[in-house]
Amino acid sequence: MANEDLLKKIISHSKEYGFIFPSSEIYDGLSAVYDYGQNGAELKKNIKEYWWKSMVQLHENIVGIDAAIFMHPKTWEASGHVGAFNDPLIDNRDSKKRYRADVLIEEHREKIQQKIDKEVEKAQKKFGESFDRLQFVATNDRVIGYQQQIDTLNERFVKALNETNLEEIRQIIIDNEIVCPVSGTKNWTEVRQFNLMFDTKIGSVSDEANIIYLRPETAQGIFVNFLNVQKTGRMKIPFGIAQIGKAFRNEIVARQFIFRMREFEQMEMQFFVRPGEEMQWYEYWKAMRLKWHKNLGLGDDKYRYHNHDKLAHYANAAVDIEFDFPMGFKEVEGIHSRTDFDLSQHQKFSGKKMQYFDPELNKSYVPYVIETSIGVDRMFMTVLSSAYKEEKIEEDGRTEERVVLNIPPALAPVKVAILPLVKKDGLSEIAKEIMDDLKFHVICQYEEKDSIGKRYRRQDAIGTPFCVTIDHQTLEDKTVTLRYRDTMIQERVKIEALKALVLEKTDMNNLLKKIFS
Ligand code: ATP
Repeated sequence: MANEDLLKKIISHSKEYGFIFPSSEIYDGLSAVYDYGQNGAELKKNIKEYWWKSMVQLHENIVGIDAAIFMHPKTWEASGHVGAFNDPLIDNRDSKKRYRADVLIEEHREKIQQKIDKEVEKAQKKFGESFDRLQFVATNDRVIGYQQQIDTLNERFVKALNETNLEEIRQIIIDNEIVCPVSGTKNWTEVRQFNLMFDTKIGSVSDEANIIYLRPETAQGIFVNFLNVQKTGRMKIPFGIAQIGKAFRNEIVARQFIFRMREFEQMEMQFFVRPGEEMQWYEYWKAMRLKWHKNLGLGDDKYRYHNHDKLAHYANAAVDIEFDFPMGFKEVEGIHSRTDFDLSQHQKFSGKKMQYFDPELNKSYVPYVIETSIGVDRMFMTVLSSAYKEEKIEEDGRTEERVVLNIPPALAPVKVAILPLVKKDGLSEIAKEIMDDLKFHVICQYEEKDSIGKRYRRQDAIGTPFCVTIDHQTLEDKTVTLRYRDTMIQERVKIEALKALVLEKTDMNNLLKKIFS
């Protein structure tokens, strides 16, 4: 399936099956703001649980907090967001569309990379087993040419970003003949900086002093509470503070569904370490976070690391974990070594000490910080886009199409569907008994309308891993049919064995154990 098609299909499927709706849709929606429906809310909750448990429950030295969205405005001066939380924007005069200048360049670079990948793929097919990739990329003229283009572009781009040289960023766009994807022209405006923070007013007096911001990241709520948590929790370095919560950014380009939203949710963890030990913890968290992702089984080849072209003002190392979304490889999570920047800045701006007394070293210092930061919504999109499948299946001698979401069972919104074959003959009663037992453990759905085939289709479309059918044989031998979503295999299972089987296969803890085994 072509990638744009896949994205469109996921968007309409999400709406049709109660995962994601455009916000305030009856008023034609609000750009880059979305609501999660009945199935979306469950999937999102499960993703958050998978993260929270892996961080807070399974690391003895990490605790979780829930800080407010509004913070004292000085927070954002100290963190650098008032001065430097900007994106470079550029407009195309013909289409009147606005773009992030850095993203236009990154996408151009990715296109050249794709040309290299295609050449490699072609050669691999041609030479078969004897193909030597390294030798090919080092000697093939076309590949060498493309690689040179990337290297030259990179060098200019990184320099321009580091110097915040907006004219040069524009010039790179012109020199590389990057066109507007809508108008196809190179009629670009100047590049301008745009601050992404939303502001509003607090209290009833409307003067300058009352302006506050909606937090653009959850991290600062952790930093300002560093000593509160450390002291009340008697935490010893190294230790972490985790948080899940909403963040807000007035994004310039608000396309690509829930990938780039103006109101979104983050799962962030700040890990406080001794100065000088940050690199070893950076490597630990880099590996650990990738393991967490791959553990879901969405496909190991769908992930890659991407080192930042430009380090943020606070970082001494930073890497993104990128996922192969329908729009290509893009960031789903960032791991940043933030040095002692944030705590030192808060110390300076608040006049309060942000130091830790290390009993082993017998001295006080401002800790260094490794941050892991992942967007819940982007994570949601990784799950949805890899789960969506259209399949041809044989049923009752006919070929049918089904759309199935192969969501990892522990994350699936509904775990079990309970389906009496017919309403009469006491089948509904047995089905309800099964439901009344199972519903205390997992989310179940009871359905007795329509043919069994149609009911299976509906459950496949929302990713329910198990369907339990109660039929006339159930009356005789107390067995039910258990249908597996992915293979569509059906087996007879004793009612008394059902709960243990379903719980074992959908249990979040079993999924989590695999990360730490
Ligand atoms: P990008 O370069 O794509 O704008 P970023 O580098 O600004 O992302 P961070 O500031 O590192 O992102 O934020 C951490 C995480 O928060 C990201 O990896 C992403 O998953 C999520 N995130 C950031 N901005 C958005 C957004 N507008 N919508 C949804 N998720 C977001």
